[in-house]
Amino acid sequence: MLIVMASDAGPDDVRRVCDAVRELGYEAHPIPGRTRVAIGITGNQGPIDPASVAALPGVIELIPVTRPYKLTSREMQPEDTLVRVGQLEIGGPQLAVIAGPCSVETLGQTLETARAVAAAGAGILRGGAFKPRTSPYTFQGLGAEGLEILRRARELTGLPVVTEAVDGESFDLVERAADVIQIGARNMQNYSLLRRAGRASKPILLKRSVSGTLLELLMAAEYILAAGNRDVILCERGIRAFSDYSRYTLDLSIVPELKRITHLPVLVDPSHAAGRRELVAPLARAAVAAGADGIMVEVHPTPRAALSDAAQSLDLPAFAALMDELRAIAPAVRRVIEVRA
Ligand code: PEP
Ligand code: MN
Repeated sequence: MLIVMASDAGPDDVRRVCDAVRELGYEAHPIPGRTRVAIGITGNQGPIDPASVAALPGVIELIPVTRPYKLTSREMQPEDTLVRVGQLEIGGPQLAVIAGPCSVETLGQTLETARAVAAAGAGILRGGAFKPRTSPYTFQGLGAEGLEILRRARELTGLPVVTEAVDGESFDLVERAADVIQIGARNMQNYSLLRRAGRASKPILLKRSVSGTLLELLMAAEYILAAGNRDVILCERGIRAFSDYSRYTLDLSIVPELKRITHLPVLVDPSHAAGRRELVAPLARAAVAAGADGIMVEVHPTPRAALSDAAQSLDLPAFAALMDELRAIAPAVRRVIEVRA
């Protein structure tokens, strides 16, 4: 259920309605809009008796929300969510370009990459410190030391950083160091981690799992919003299909469909979908053309020597060349790429 407040309703009116909803045993989520506040109600098993809130001052309309996902739906919030990260407003006309190594390996490698991707026009640095690896025998990330390197890279380049939290144990550390906290594909349905992300003070980049349906992705995001964090960015990164020439299959059709039914920003990670560097730039170009709010690309100064995801990492000149191409595509879909000085 969505309660629409009059445009001249004040904070006291909103508070009174929220209190009345909570007294009924439900959760109230005020959603500020451009012209008026709406209040989402969750936690009800069936329809709510409207009489108790309909008569309160400032209430103009009660709208039933028919979808299983509530706070993430455009029914609840027709306006796009804009997630502020440094100079960027993700979800608006500015295209968010996140680039950097799969794993933070050394300060030198991270800084060299950060400086090059910033010069090419990226707005956010990525780099894993805690890595979810398929094999327990491969590089697992530098952990806390990696976060320290990211902190230093941010200080020296001014780029905000996104890095992954793989479990509740390391979440606090990651939350302190990151500007955006990534929940990886393997954890999309780790509900205790999603609840923790909902209590985080930083935006969350939520990646679709390799077998996650659109509904499951939105229900995962719903966990985060329901726990109080409205700054969620969705990310398509390829799903498991029968392709035997790419690592996963990039499901680009989910981009316009998500943009239609949710107000949350939608990014695309062509690197993990492709698994091969030759495919990364074409998929990145297609993602921007399909209406993604941004892309996340793995970049390494010497890809062949990368400690993880070497085969899909772009070198620095290849990333700069991709940015030139995106600068040509962006205006056709009414997007801008901020070029940093
Ligand atoms: C990553 O971004 O490095 C990563 C591990 O991604 P995913 O969770 O999509 O596999
Ligand atoms: Mn990776």
